[in-house]
Amino acid sequence: MLLMTEIYLDNSATTPLCGGAVEAMTQAMRCYGNPSSLHSLGHEAQKMIDAARNSIGSALGVRMMKPEELIFTSCGTEANNLALFGTAYAKSRRTANKIITTDSEHPSVGKALEALEADGFEVVRIGTRGGVLNWDQLEKSLDDKVLLVTMMMVNNETGAVYDLARVFKMVKERCPSAVTHCDAVQGFLKLRFSPAAIGADLLSISSHKIHGPKGVGALYVSREILKQKKLTPRLLGGGQEFGFRSGTENVIGIAGFGAAVRETGRDLDGKLQKMAALREYALLKLSALDVTLNVPLGVCAPHVLNFTLPRIKSETMLHYLSGEGIYVSGGSACSSHSHAPSATLLAFGLSPSDAENSIRVSLSEYNTEEEIDRFVETLKNGLNVLVRTRR
Ligand code: PLP
Repeated sequence: MLLMTEIYLDNSATTPLCGGAVEAMTQAMRCYGNPSSLHSLGHEAQKMIDAARNSIGSALGVRMMKPEELIFTSCGTEANNLALFGTAYAKSRRTANKIITTDSEHPSVGKALEALEADGFEVVRIGTRGGVLNWDQLEKSLDDKVLLVTMMMVNNETGAVYDLARVFKMVKERCPSAVTHCDAVQGFLKLRFSPAAIGADLLSISSHKIHGPKGVGALYVSREILKQKKLTPRLLGGGQEFGFRSGTENVIGIAGFGAAVRETGRDLDGKLQKMAALREYALLKLSALDVTLNVPLGVCAPHVLNFTLPRIKSETMLHYLSGEGIYVSGGSACSSHSHAPSATLLAFGLSPSDAENSIRVSLSEYNTEEEIDRFVETLKNGLNVLVRTRR
């Protein structure tokens, strides 16, 4: 629980629950039926899932969505794994075995692709120096051997937005049978898009990044992929989620996810404008300090910014800030399990030592200018104290 004086600036790692999600989950906790049961308690639980599916479908801008176009999973990681392994091992796959991605994906894509590579698939990683895709390398990689193109919409560490509408258009023109997958975990309700508008056949999202509960995500699957049977399940069992994800559904989490989408999606343009203005404000304030801003050369998401400290490890600064009740992160929360410099920041063009000295600030619509002022002031003090103690 945050105290009044605490400042949470780590919203790419996770977000606080919104009121609507808490309410919906409290209600769902009282409805203990199994959605697969044929009696009325089961129907009640199924109705909660249906309502969440409809809310998410309309927030994604999927027109006349069929229920089977949205598969609930246990998290964004599982949605990504289902998309990648499910496409690679689909029965409909013929000889194509080349997978195209970027060199700065989240580990839930990166590690899954390493496993597929070890299993004989060819993986091409497109450079993202400065937060911009290497278009030459992409063009040269597109041929009739391509099975799948998987790329993130927004980079979780730098906030760089990759132009997936352009990528997937090129893919559909040059390799029409290839499947396109977008990891939209950091883009959902931060950018305006729909799977059809960007040409994504598959698209992953996660609840806890948009003020919903942890432990629930979803994979959008286009009608074309369903028709052509280009996705195969990873979890086998009772056939829930239209056979794509067996296991009794997390009704409470799904109800919370749906409510969070409804609440966060309300007046979304206003919220996004507020976040983008706050990001600009933070960048301006930070530019007066002895730090290097790692701003992508192309388009940026409204909620993420990254900077490098002068010869101070991010971990040291994180502890200093945390002691003052201010929460940010170094690289991504997921990569904090490893002590290696962030592969994403290396791909962005930072040296290994600069990557180890970098801090990510990630905003939500609940943050304020006063919080940014206090963060920048505390960071300034931290720089003074930590540089002095190092001498
Ligand atoms: N993809 C991206 C871009 C992410 O930032 C994250 C989480 O940080 C994930 C996937 C994984 O989502 P989850 O935490 O729901 O497994």
